Amino acid sequence: MKNWISGRVVEKTHWTDTLFSVRFDAPLEDFNAGQFIQVAMDIEGERVARPYSLVNAPHERPLEIYFNEVPEGPLTPRLSLLEPGDSLWVSAKASGVFVMERIPECRDLWMFATGTALGVYLSILKTAIPWQRFEKVVLVHGCRTAQELNYQKTILMLADRFGDQFHFVPALSRERAAGRLPGRVTDLLETGVLERTANRVISPDYSHIMLCGNEAMIRDMRSLLEARGLQRHTARQSGHYTTEKYH
Ligand SMILES: Cc1cc2nc3c(=O)[nH]c(=O)nc-3n(C[C@H](O)[C@H](O)[C@H](O)COP(=O)(O)OP(=O)(O)OC[C@H]3O[C@@H](n4cnc5c(N)ncnc54)[C@H](O)[C@@H]3O)c2cc1C
Repeated sequence: MKNWISGRVVEKTHWTDTLFSVRFDAPLEDFNAGQFIQVAMDIEGERVARPYSLVNAPHERPLEIYFNEVPEGPLTPRLSLLEPGDSLWVSAKASGVFVMERIPECRDLWMFATGTALGVYLSILKTAIPWQRFEKVVLVHGCRTAQELNYQKTILMLADRFGDQFHFVPALSRERAAGRLPGRVTDLLETGVLERTANRVISPDYSHIMLCGNEAMIRDMRSLLEARGLQRHTARQSGHYTTEKYH
């Protein structure tokens, strides 16, 4: 049985009608950037739990999660109603292997996120490890509309701090906006636009690709990468890409 601890909400930010972030205090055990926790609420006598990545780096408090409200889902509509002072349940321990320790040595690290999957990368990028290990870090965030490109302050802070070592590529699939690539990240990879924008080529010789978000993006990216000779990285076999599926 899971060991639940009580968390207390300290802040909530609504970015759009459905995207929101919750900051909360809870005595969580030490974790690695990139890991997720279980968040639960008691709904009609039942504890309903789902996994969520932490946005804060391990040294930062309060804890933070970036949520998408799924209107038909049992949990997220309730989480979106939380206010400062309210409580929620979280697992005492974080888990997951989408962490820097599992990424093999290489020159360039590419991080692909759709939607709220941006959060897992922010946790990692706020630690020293990726900046010590990789010559270049490219963060690609695919959203439908410009409104969904959140956490821009954190991204600007990273860009200021790490200069040319960091490249952020926002892509919008449903609208056009200045400074944002138009289209799905998979199409942008296929046409070569993404690599030209980042001024870097993805190659099995020196790149590692992290993929996090929806199933369709991960499936399509995998086929594109495999057609170019990149293999899935597992604990048993060294490869070039690593995945974490949210839904
Ligand atoms: C390892 C891991 C980490 C995750 N981290 C996050 C996170 O940081 N933030 C977050 O919002 N979600 C995250 N998720 C998804 C989350 O666990 C829930 O599935 C989601 O919040 C929906 O919960 P629900 O109970 O409201 O609806 P559910 O009944 O669980 O899902 C309803 C429908 O919503 C779809 N769905 C699930 N998640 C999303 C999403 N993020 N965006 C759009 N559609 C979705 C599902 O495919 C399903 O069809 C993560 C999932 C995994 C496996």
